[in-house]
Amino acid sequence: MPAEEFRQYGHQMIDWVADYLRDIDQYRVLPNVQPGDIRRMLPQKPPQTAEPMNAILSDFDRIVLPGTTHWNHPRFLAYFNSSSSAPGILGELLSAALNANGMVWESCPSATELEEVTVDWLRQMLGLPSGFWGIIYDTASTSTLHGITMAREALADLHIRERGMAGRVDLPRLRVYQSELAHSSVDKAVIALGFGMEGIRKIPVDDAFRMRLDALDEAIKEDRKLGIRPFCVVATVGTTSCTSIDPVPAIVDICEREKLWLHVDAAHGGAAALVPEMQHVLAGCDRADSIVINPHKWMFVPVDLSVLYTRKPKILRQAFSYVPEYLRTGYDEKAINFMDYGIPLGRRFRALKLWFVLRYFGWEGMAARIREHISIANTFARWVDDHRDFERLAPVPLSTVCLRARPAGMDRESDLNQLNEKLFHAVNRTGEAFVSHTKLGDRYTIRVVVSHLRTQEVHIRRFWELLQQQLLMLLPKSR
Ligand SMILES: *Cc1c(COP(=O)(O)O)cnc(C)c1O
Repeated sequence: MPAEEFRQYGHQMIDWVADYLRDIDQYRVLPNVQPGDIRRMLPQKPPQTAEPMNAILSDFDRIVLPGTTHWNHPRFLAYFNSSSSAPGILGELLSAALNANGMVWESCPSATELEEVTVDWLRQMLGLPSGFWGIIYDTASTSTLHGITMAREALADLHIRERGMAGRVDLPRLRVYQSELAHSSVDKAVIALGFGMEGIRKIPVDDAFRMRLDALDEAIKEDRKLGIRPFCVVATVGTTSCTSIDPVPAIVDICEREKLWLHVDAAHGGAAALVPEMQHVLAGCDRADSIVINPHKWMFVPVDLSVLYTRKPKILRQAFSYVPEYLRTGYDEKAINFMDYGIPLGRRFRALKLWFVLRYFGWEGMAARIREHISIANTFARWVDDHRDFERLAPVPLSTVCLRARPAGMDRESDLNQLNEKLFHAVNRTGEAFVSHTKLGDRYTIRVVVSHLRTQEVHIRRFWELLQQQLLMLLPKSR
C-alpha cells in the first residue's frame, strides 16, 4: 500500500474510531443476529485477486459491525469487562506498526525494557513488594498455566521437567486446591499439565462465597493420609461469579505451614488495589508465590494483556528456558530474554499500550475511575435492597452486584429460577444493556458488573429502569 493511500485510509479510520467511541451508546450492545448469519454474508472462497480498500471497509460496516457485541458500550455490564481507552487503542496501533517481536532482548530492546519498567510501575501501584517480578502474557488463563507450572517445577525432588509424569510408579498423585468458585482456567491448566481433573480438589465456600479455611485444612490432611501429595493452592481475589475474596492472609499461613505453592488469581479484582483505600483486597498477597492480574479487564487496556507476578522468577526460568543455538545472543548474560520465562517464543509488544494507558490516566486517574465504579455499584446495590420485588444474592466487595427478582408471593426456588432466566433474556434482548448470569447456590443470578471506563451512574439508572419494566411485563397483570 503506497504511503499516500495508507495515510488517506488511516485518517479515515481514526475518524471512524473517534465517532464510534463518541456515539457508542447509539448502538445495540448485543447484535440482533443468529448463529451463521455473518458467515452466510461472507464469500466461502478466498479472494483470488486484490480488492480495493474501499470494498473491504464497506463490508466491515455492512457485515462485521452488525454482528459485533459492543464491549465498549457503557451498558455492557456482562462478564468482566474490557474497555479500550483511546490511549490504549493508539498504543495498539503503534505496536502493530512496529510489529516488533520481543522474544529476546536483542530482537527488540525497547520491548523488553519497557515491559520490565511498566510491569514494575504497576507492581508499585498495586502495593506489591519489590521482590515481585512480572511478565506479560496474553490472558489470565495463560498466566495461571504458568503459575501452576511453577508450582510443579518447585517440586524439585520429583524431576518432572526431565522425567515427565507418565509411566512413573514412583510419583504420588499430586493435588491442587481451589474454591468451588475458582475460575475454569485453573481446571484447564491442571488438565493441560497432566494432573488430570482428579488432580484438583474444590473446597467449599462460606456464606459470603469465600474459600472455607477449615475445609481447606481438612482436605489437605485427608489427602496426606491417603498418600496424595498436596502441592498448590489457588486463591481468588474477585471470583468470576460474585467477586468474593478468599481469605488470602490465612491461606498463606496454611501454605507456609504445609509448604504449598500459593497462586493468587486476581485477574479482575486485583485492579481495585490501585485505589489506595482498597489496597486491602490484596492483603496477604505479598507472601504469595505467584499472582495474576489482567490490565485488560478493569484497567482500560484493550485485550489482550495479563501480568503474572512472582517472587521466584528463577523457578519460572528453570521450568521454561530451552535455548536453541539460533536464539543465542551476545547479550544473554547482561539482559533478560523473556522467551526464557514461558511457552511463547514470539511476543507482541504489549507493554506499549500499558505504558500509554498508565501515563495518560496516571495512577490518580485510574484510581478515581475505579473508585467511582465501586461507588456506583454500591448505590445500585442499595436500590436493589430497597425494592420489594428484587433481592441481592451476594455482598458487593468490589463493583459487581448479584441479584434476582423476587416478586411478592413467589417463593418456590424453581419458579424464581425460571422467572429470572426469562428476565435475564428479556433485558438482553432489548439491546439497551447486556448482563450475564451465574448460579449462586442453586439460585439463578443476574450479575451486573460496573467496570467499564464509560459507565456512569446514568447508565446504571437506565439499566435499573429497564430491569423493572421487563419484570412488570413478565408478571401477571392481576398483581
Ligand atoms: C477473567 C478471569 C480469568 C480469565 O481471564 P482471561 O484473561 O480471559 O484468560 C481468570 N480468573 C478470573 C478470576 C477472571 O475473572
